[in-house]
Amino acid sequence: MRTTVPIDISNPTALTERNDLSDKGINDKKWTANQDKSIRSGRTLKQSAEIPTMLWEAIAKGNEKFILPIASVCGADCVFCFNKYNPMDMDLPSGFRDLDDIHQAIELLAGTMPIHLGGESNGVVRQEGEPLLHPKIFEILGMIRRKHPHTLVHIMTNATQLTEKFVLKLLPFQPITFQISYHSNTSHNWCKILGIRAKKFKIAQEAFPILQKYGLNCQATIVAMPNLVGFDDIEGTIRYLRQYTDIINIYSPHYTNAANQQPEPEEFKHKMSYDPIAMSELLKAMRVKVKPNKD
Ligand code: SF4
Repeated sequence: MRTTVPIDISNPTALTERNDLSDKGINDKKWTANQDKSIRSGRTLKQSAEIPTMLWEAIAKGNEKFILPIASVCGADCVFCFNKYNPMDMDLPSGFRDLDDIHQAIELLAGTMPIHLGGESNGVVRQEGEPLLHPKIFEILGMIRRKHPHTLVHIMTNATQLTEKFVLKLLPFQPITFQISYHSNTSHNWCKILGIRAKKFKIAQEAFPILQKYGLNCQATIVAMPNLVGFDDIEGTIRYLRQYTDIINIYSPHYTNAANQQPEPEEFKHKMSYDPIAMSELLKAMRVKVKPNKD
């Protein structure tokens, strides 16, 4: 498509042409259409006129070939959630993406690589949400399967919906894997981090053996915050997870200048900080103790 005029996304022919869009950025004649696509995919920024060209370029490149964001809200309120610390406000039209929009986004997925359902990153701005909270989640999975019957769907979740009953309803949509954010294996610390009730912790904790029971693979993600929960807690979490997965992704905590709006900004920054040498020692020791394939 050789035009700088935005494509009418309601036009199926134009949509087919959008599948061929390159990601060369602002110097690409297709950039306007790419930008339009990034907006349609739910990544709408406030004060767009003030956003530098480079930022728009990065957003326009996006990850639309394999990431399918469907929710921008979450039942939790993690202390480090990107939604609170994005360097700029996200202006999201609603908490859950509507089915027509999702259908159009599915058309853009390549289907040649795993489809990531959930957290989204375009390299500059992150916007988070819990995909399994979407009230039409099973319809969405059905839509994906009609277009891509065999492509792996990789669901990024905090596992608070993964009861046995829910998992049973997911089984017909296999192949599915999970990336589960699980930052502590103690109820007290998990609730402190996620800002929700212990009842949800039990669901998340029990999700791992349930997934294993039904042969569903998962990876786990820990945002390691020793100044908040202690190194022993992190070790216990790794030990628990290792029973159910051999891939444990461990991320360091972080914050932006938005942390200065916290009631106790210095205390907050301390909790989100860590001693890199002590952390390195812990991870080295854990590598020997639990032998993960990756951390
Ligand atoms: S689970 Fe993810 S989306 Fe939900 S509050 Fe935590 S970091 Fe944010």
